Amino acid sequence: MIRVKSPREVELMRRAGKLTAAARALAREMVRPGATTLEIDREVFKFIKNRGGTPSFLHYNGFPASMCISVNDEVTHGIPGKRKLREGDIVSLDLGAKLGGFHGDCGVTVPCGAVSAEAQKLIAVTRQCFYEGLRYAKKGFRVSDISHAIQVYAEQNGYGVVRAYIGHGVGADLHEDPEVPNFGDPGHGPRLAPGMTLAVEPMINAGGPAIRVLGNNWTAVTVDGSNSAYYENTILITDGEPEILTVPEV
Ligand code: MG
Repeated sequence: MIRVKSPREVELMRRAGKLTAAARALAREMVRPGATTLEIDREVFKFIKNRGGTPSFLHYNGFPASMCISVNDEVTHGIPGKRKLREGDIVSLDLGAKLGGFHGDCGVTVPCGAVSAEAQKLIAVTRQCFYEGLRYAKKGFRVSDISHAIQVYAEQNGYGVVRAYIGHGVGADLHEDPEVPNFGDPGHGPRLAPGMTLAVEPMINAGGPAIRVLGNNWTAVTVDGSNSAYYENTILITDGEPEILTVPEV
């Protein structure tokens, strides 16, 4: 069942979204050669806690950290640890924060130092996939209209769309209905209505769409070893243009 948010709930989600986006900006600033992923995770934990929030991912289904940090061929659910980031890595940062009873959920892939032209293009196309989907995040369209727009744009650029992980409704729970896949035919799924809040999160591989999960039972990597990128915001469906609740970055 899709939980449509009241104006008061939307206001709380704006606050949670702003906190989440600010934590993402902090994580982004910390991406540099020599930094460990655990250092970034610890600072994000402190940042969210100091502002009265709770990291949404910490202990979620047993996840051991405040955020996911997935490097290069890691698609998602990378676990922060001793790994040192290196020049040329691409680093996917995914995090959520709960504040006032509601979650924000957002993420971005950022370059570590100078990265290849191919990696820059993957990051840019993945970000644009989100905005292609956003064009259909309006009253009257259906959920899969967003999905289809994301898939078409990714595949036009020769990339693979990950099938195993998808976007979702978000609110008092981190994952709510509806499911928001990044692929599919248009014209299916629930009709979008004002007050719906969705996490739209394309995960795009430079190569094929196939992924496998590592032995830690969390981290997904591309089967063909190609790089993977990610871009996510929590959005609100309105009477007009969608509102991004996790204030976006370039
Ligand atoms: Mg999400």
